[in-house]
Amino acid sequence: MKFNRLRITGFKSFCEPTDFQIEPGLTGVVGPNGCGKSNLVEAMRWVMGESSYKSMRASGMDDVIFSGSGNRPSRNIAEVALILDNSDRSAPAAFNDAEVLEISRRIERESGSTYRFNGKEVRARDVQLLFADAATGARSPAMVRQGQIGEIISAKPQQRRRILEDAAGVAGLHSRRHEAELR
Ligand code: ATP
Ligand code: MG
Repeated sequence: MKFNRLRITGFKSFCEPTDFQIEPGLTGVVGPNGCGKSNLVEAMRWVMGESSYKSMRASGMDDVIFSGSGNRPSRNIAEVALILDNSDRSAPAAFNDAEVLEISRRIERESGSTYRFNGKEVRARDVQLLFADAATGARSPAMVRQGQIGEIISAKPQQRRRILEDAAGVAGLHSRRHEAELR
């Protein structure tokens, strides 16, 4: 599975629809302070199922919706779509029946968010498990936030274990077991 494209509309500073092509190899995003580099990475984490608005530097999930600027009114909807190339058919079983996988998340003010997988509505949990199984989720060590290296060094053993489990790709299994135990 490879990241192919990221489409962002109305999310944080991305007021206008913005389409990022992610080419093979290393991608660098450069720009002046405040131009939206971190917002771009947050959009990626958000579409992968991030549920903590605090970790998105927001004071509520609706805060991720474009709040207006000098000459542009605020929006009521934010949408992020991540398009994955699955031509190597390496996606986890439940998502592995298509060559191109499009996962999207949309939030409307005061109505919460909905997720879609190739046009079909799915649960947040399905999306979170897809990425946890692929070891690239919103919380995975594949996404390194500013200050996170320091956090790893000072983490308690229990937290550090979670990081290792994520890296080993067993985080999805763990959370399924936890869910089964609650039933
Ligand atoms: P730095 O180089 O300082 O890390 P950056 O390129 O990472 O900067 P971001 O933190 O991604 O910049 O973007 C910050 C900008 O996003 C600020 O100008 C802020 O006003 C804007 N922003 C954040 N949330 C929203 C929102 N909901 N609506 C409109 N603009 C927003
Ligand atoms: Mg930044």
